[in-house]
Amino acid sequence: MQGLDELKSQMIDCGSCDLCRERTQVVFGEGPDNPLVMIIGEAPGEDEDIQGKPFIGKAGQKLDSILKYVGLGREEVYITNAVLCRPPKNRNPRGEELEACKWRLDLQIQLLKPKLIILLGRIAMQQMQGSPVKGALSQFFLENKGYMTYKTGEHEAKVMVTYHPSYHLRSPEKAYRITLPHWTAVKGWLEKEKQNA
Ligand code: URA
Repeated sequence: MQGLDELKSQMIDCGSCDLCRERTQVVFGEGPDNPLVMIIGEAPGEDEDIQGKPFIGKAGQKLDSILKYVGLGREEVYITNAVLCRPPKNRNPRGEELEACKWRLDLQIQLLKPKLIILLGRIAMQQMQGSPVKGALSQFFLENKGYMTYKTGEHEAKVMVTYHPSYHLRSPEKAYRITLPHWTAVKGWLEKEKQNA
């Protein structure tokens, strides 16, 4: 299997979907190569497209403050997106664009072997389940408490789905109320993991 650096070099001039036409650059992902936690967002926005790093705009600042609550520094987590290129005008990535980027995400997971994957929002969830998410995420949260699992190659990780940080910016009170149990569970899990390490 190729390594992470090799995968990154391979993706740099990726032309496997239409997003390559308008992107400034591919935003591969960032973080340690043996993270406990991997975070998957939606797609690079304008700031990320210019600077080549994930989650550095307003949503990234919100993510940093959530991670701080959980007890995680940004440098401890690996962050990437469901697709690596900015969709024009920040529209949602289309089904075929997600599909074109899926093998890359699976390989990244197999190489990084995170114990926990956190999916930020419905596009990240769509990418992992391979089909659009039906209904509101708030309903999904009511019906699904606790972790799911995701297996790719030989690696299996726990998965938690939560709202995207941009939802926290749009509807702060609702996002806080609904996601507090998610992030509190991650905080508790991390404390145990760090004790046992
Ligand atoms: N920045 C990212 O890298 N991903 C998102 O989903 C949003 C902003």
